[in-house]
Amino acid sequence: MKNFKIAVVGAGPAGYFTTQAFQNAQNSEVSFSIDMIERLPTPWGLVRSGVAPDHPKIKTVSKVFEKIAKEANFRLFANVEIGKDVSIKELREQYDAVVLAIGASKGRKLGIPGESLKNSMSASDFVPWYNAHPDYENTEIDLSCDTAVVIGAGNVAIDIARILAMDPTELDSTDIAQHALIELKRSNIRTVIICGRRGPEHAAFTSLELKNLTKLQNTNVVIDELQVNSAYGRYSNFFETEKDLKNNLESMKFIAEHSKKGVDRKLEIKFLLSPLEIRGNKTVSEVVFSINKVSDKKVIATDQTFSIQTGLIISAIGYETVAIPGIEIDNGRISNIAGHVEHNVYTTGWAKRGPTGVIGTNKSDSKDVVDLIIKNLKTPKNSEGITTLLRSTHEVINQTSWEKINAEEIISGQILNKPRLKISNRLKLIQIGRNNT
Ligand code: NAP
Repeated sequence: MKNFKIAVVGAGPAGYFTTQAFQNAQNSEVSFSIDMIERLPTPWGLVRSGVAPDHPKIKTVSKVFEKIAKEANFRLFANVEIGKDVSIKELREQYDAVVLAIGASKGRKLGIPGESLKNSMSASDFVPWYNAHPDYENTEIDLSCDTAVVIGAGNVAIDIARILAMDPTELDSTDIAQHALIELKRSNIRTVIICGRRGPEHAAFTSLELKNLTKLQNTNVVIDELQVNSAYGRYSNFFETEKDLKNNLESMKFIAEHSKKGVDRKLEIKFLLSPLEIRGNKTVSEVVFSINKVSDKKVIATDQTFSIQTGLIISAIGYETVAIPGIEIDNGRISNIAGHVEHNVYTTGWAKRGPTGVIGTNKSDSKDVVDLIIKNLKTPKNSEGITTLLRSTHEVINQTSWEKINAEEIISGQILNKPRLKISNRLKLIQIGRNNT
């Protein structure tokens, strides 16, 4: 029986699905010992710090992760940072294969003047702030203006706009960070405008997320009926083959035709607006767009501009993988061929393919990479793994420590009728984990 040591770096969906694929591939001839290494003191990646708090169903995948973690061949090493506590080179030497499932946590830049003004930020700052990510505990966001603008026409833009535009009491029973809930309750924002640079037919929203907007109790959702109908007209002949497009445009038509009355909160979706410049004195006060039009199904710029007076601008235009020492990044992802990076190093998930797809997409993606790794594995190394690499004083959050943190959050949440009360302070998380060991 051959036993191979695998290091999975990153405890998000791609990391767990990679582990699961290794577990499923075991047989009478081959087994795998998997060490999962995570920078934060908590696992689950985007399921914890990306998925919106009012989407609890999506988070139930964490039950699958915990089942994977219960297997005897799995060990969690959270609160361990690559490049600081251990290097890729060291992992490469100690393990038969290293899989980088490190996601893409840096927001892409708009690259326009004024982007660095105060209260102009990326989704990659705003989303982890409301999801209690320890690195964003002290992020400063001023919600005192009446209008916020979200740039980008994808599901992350919808998440952000919804959180800002909804009545915050609708978030009371969620696991949103307590600091964010307090700020949202103080917020003066009553209008949130999502601005996409192309037409309704090009939007990256999914119809489910569009439909969910109509369920907001106290927010009027508005979309330009004329623009939606034009897109509908341009594409209705293709609906037989383009099911996603058909569903999206139908969801938009539904939104356009059903506006709510008597509520003061508004979420508006605008199209054909390319951001040109953010204006303001120290803090943002206006965003200027160039108006585009669709001609022969192509999006072209006009010479007209449109501007919105706003005190908060959030760009949700995609993500890039953050570089780790010794690993080459190309076009926002780890340079790889079908998941192979170099020697015995591989990658999966958003770090491999870019920031696309839903959580489940990582399952098939990771299975493909694991199949490739298994094909390339020859003779197991005689090595100790990560335990020989870490300083003896290093505070690892292992699975038992994490279960203590998890239980503490769930118990604190119960009193408040929430699924959990997330702890966003890194030291506190470590301290709770430490008490268990
Ligand atoms: P996305 O789906 O790729 O959308 C990015 C949007 O940004 C696109 O509309 C894109 O427009 C626009 N954009 C890019 N560069 C721009 C620029 N310079 N100026 C203006 N607009 C620009 O990315 P995402 O919203 O970050 O989502 C990432 C992935 O996570 C997606 O697969 C998404 O479905 C998934 N997700 C799913 C859920 C859910 O299922 N509930 C929730 C959140 C995220 P163009 O098309 O013109 O480039």
